[in-house]
Amino acid sequence: VCLARFRGARICSRCGADLGPLMQLSVAAWMLREAARASLAAGDFAQAGQLAKQAQDLQVTEAGGALCLLSAWLQAGDEVRPSR
Ligand SMILES: [Zn+2]
Repeated sequence: VCLARFRGARICSRCGADLGPLMQLSVAAWMLREAARASLAAGDFAQAGQLAKQAQDLQVTEAGGALCLLSAWLQAGDEVRPSR
């Protein structure tokens, strides 16, 4: 809120803002990214893409962006792979 550096505490030491809801969003986004990674590992690229996008909707991160790109790229690879 006051742009003080985040110290991992729920209440900002400078302005007293309650950062709890923000931290919950951050944790939820992290869990979605973890689930996206698990889906990638399992080869379910469509699911991974969905989860990564949901994570980005909650909190935009570089890791989330990379997961989105990677999932989309792997999914595209699935589609152009010749089926025989
Ligand atoms: Zn503050």
